[in-house]
Amino acid sequence: PLLGRDPKVTYRLGIMGGTFDPIHNGHLVAAEQAFDDLGLDVVVFMPAGRPAFKLDKKVSSGEDRYAMTLLATSDNPHFVASRFEVDRPGVTYTADTLEILRGIYADNVELYFITGADAIADIVRWRDAGRIARLAHLVGATRPGYDLARAERAIEGSPFRFDVTYLEVPALAISSSYLRGRVSRGQSLRYLTPDSVTGYIHKHNLYGVRQTRYGSVE
Ligand code: ATP
Ligand code: MG
Repeated sequence: PLLGRDPKVTYRLGIMGGTFDPIHNGHLVAAEQAFDDLGLDVVVFMPAGRPAFKLDKKVSSGEDRYAMTLLATSDNPHFVASRFEVDRPGVTYTADTLEILRGIYADNVELYFITGADAIADIVRWRDAGRIARLAHLVGATRPGYDLARAERAIEGSPFRFDVTYLEVPALAISSSYLRGRVSRGQSLRYLTPDSVTGYIHKHNLYGVRQTRYGSVE
C-alpha cells in the first residue's frame, strides 16, 4: 500500500525505471524534481529485471541493482524501491509494468513515467507505444538548454497522443556508465552517488576494482 486509500482522491504515482547499474544522483535529482514540479505522492524506483535493451551487455545482478536502489532511496520518505521487475522472470517491458500497476490501483491513480528526454523520442516508436500513451503521462528530464526538436518531432509523428512534461535537470550529465568507468579506474564516486551506494559497490567488488583490506585499490 504505497498510496492512500481515499476513493475520492486521485493519487499521482511517479515511476522511475532503469537499469540502475548503479543508481546515481542524476536519477535521484530528476525524481525529486518530478516529485516537486508535478505534485507526485510517491516515486517508485524500479530496477529492470532483464532490460530489453541491454540483453547483449553485462549487467550486475538484479539483487545488487535492487540493493543499491534501496540504499540510495532509503532516507527519502517519498521514494520507494520496488522489487517488482527484478522478481519477474524474462525480459521486462515498460508497458506491461504500467498495465499491472494500473490494474492494482485502477482509476484511483495517475501514472507518471519518468525518463531522460532522449529516451522519449525512442519510447514513442516502441512496439507498445499506444499502450504506454494510454496508461501513463511521460516526464522527460532534459539538460538546461537541451534541444527538444527530436523528441517533439517523434511525438508529432506518432499516431498516439502522448502527454509529456519536460523538466530541466542540471545533473543530467551524470550516467551509470561514467560511474562504472570511474570505479574501474579507481576514482572516487563522492558527490555522484550516495556514499551508501559507493560502499556497496566496493564491498561487493562491482565494476572491476578489487579493494584491499585497507580500502585502497590493488
Ligand atoms: P547507462 O550509462 O548505463 O546507460 P544511465 O545513467 O543512463 O545508465 P539508466 O539506468 O539507463 O542509467 O537510466 C534510467 C533512467 O534514468 C532512464 O530513463 C534515463 O534516461 C534516466 N537518466 C539517466 N541518467 C540521468 C540523469 N543524469 N538525470 C536524469 N535522468 C537520467
Ligand atoms: Mg542510459
